[in-house]
Amino acid sequence: MKLTHLAWAAGIVVGEGCIFGHKRGTITLSVSMCDVEVLHSLKRIFGGSVSPWIHRPNATAFRRWSASGITALTAISKMRPWLSSVKLADFTYAKTIAPNAGKGRNWAKGARTHCSYGHPFRGRNLVLFTGPHGRQRVCRTCRRRDMKAWYARNKHTKFWRKYRKHPTAPHATSAPDRSARRLVR
Ligand SMILES: [Zn+2]
Repeated sequence: MKLTHLAWAAGIVVGEGCIFGHKRGTITLSVSMCDVEVLHSLKRIFGGSVSPWIHRPNATAFRRWSASGITALTAISKMRPWLSSVKLADFTYAKTIAPNAGKGRNWAKGARTHCSYGHPFRGRNLVLFTGPHGRQRVCRTCRRRDMKAWYARNKHTKFWRKYRKHPTAPHATSAPDRSARRLVR
């Protein structure tokens, strides 16, 4: 992004922008107006999204560009030299409401020492693997319980039947009967 683009965007934000913190933990930067071209320029510079048309009683229909979390924080820090004292005060207040904004949805999870059921994330009980969402920590006790529950729910389904030796026989849940082998000996 060019410096002129940032200065231009800062002018728009000073005039029409809104910075606020949510109690649920994020900070949002938004600009509402009916000039869609300007909103899409902001989207091209910083990211974020442009809403559909919003209709309110006693107001002209408008659309809104908004960015939140790390996108909003980056945009604000880049535009900082040109922002007015009112907008900076808004930002300061937003940070008091949402001090952990921009850290991601699950930033606190990495600090946990135990799973939700109180088992420790340590030693044999800790399973580490790289999943679709990055590195994951899994509680082995909970995983075993969940897998057993899943199998109990699904053992009679078509999917499992084809892996059984005798498809019509009830599935063996206890130890196999070895009495026949004993007779042979
Ligand atoms: Zn657990």
